[in-house]
Amino acid sequence: MPELPEVEALTAYLSQRLTGRVIAEVQPVAISALKTYDPPVTALAGRTVGPVVRHGKFLDIEAGGLHLVVHLARAGWLRWKEGLPPLPPRPSARNPLALRVRLEGPEADGFDLTEAGTRKGLAVYVVREAAEVPGVARLGPDPLDPGFDLARFRALLSGERRRIKGVLRDQGVLAGVGNAYSDEVLHAARMSPYKLAADLSDEETARLFEALGTTLREAVERSRGLAAGELKAEKKLGLRVHGRTGQPCPVCGDTVREVSFADSSLQYCPTCQTGGRPLADRRLSRLLK
Ligand SMILES: [Zn+2]
Repeated sequence: MPELPEVEALTAYLSQRLTGRVIAEVQPVAISALKTYDPPVTALAGRTVGPVVRHGKFLDIEAGGLHLVVHLARAGWLRWKEGLPPLPPRPSARNPLALRVRLEGPEADGFDLTEAGTRKGLAVYVVREAAEVPGVARLGPDPLDPGFDLARFRALLSGERRRIKGVLRDQGVLAGVGNAYSDEVLHAARMSPYKLAADLSDEETARLFEALGTTLREAVERSRGLAAGELKAEKKLGLRVHGRTGQPCPVCGDTVREVSFADSSLQYCPTCQTGGRPLADRRLSRLLK
């Protein structure tokens, strides 16, 4: 799933290509992806694209007073295309195309939003204000916002009785961090994902805040200037523990371990993060009983 750094890079990439261009047509192919009906998607045709910005993991493309807001979810992606035919492709079970935006001009360029797999989560909204999208309205502060400092981070965690892993990826607490970067931030902070947020000492909170900023800024830096098609591979290369179960930790050489949940998993390094002890895996221990 694209998280803050990848969406930030996509935003920059689209800004360069879209701003000042006129939308010829927006063609929803997978109807379930389109979450709004007023204003209609056809209202975007003929409008000139203004700024392209990011809210957490949402892309926000402004066009003549309307906003096309996109959440790529788990398996969604964006591909830039040239020579697009005027007629939209037919929807089919095997076609990953969810929505196409075609621009005016001789190149007939634009972009496709695609979504692989059967679990569909990609969401597109046409709204007058980005905050009309419920997921945007409930976002917590952006960790890369210049005003986001240690005091604000401390305030977010105080009294928070959940495990830190869940808190970091809760979009209502912090905008833009998902499953992959929460694993990476906790590894960089040498902290157990199971630690309760409210139990963090002042020193630990400061260390986590530092790791959050550094991890995200480094990832944004690596993604900067890459084309949309290159971002996924870059994200994978940059990760130290996430998605690397069984591989050596690049810091200490211990084996990266995993805890599985019903619909996700987390990865961590026992030596770096949990005093060398493997975390309890409830699913695994249920199987062993
Ligand atoms: Zn390690």
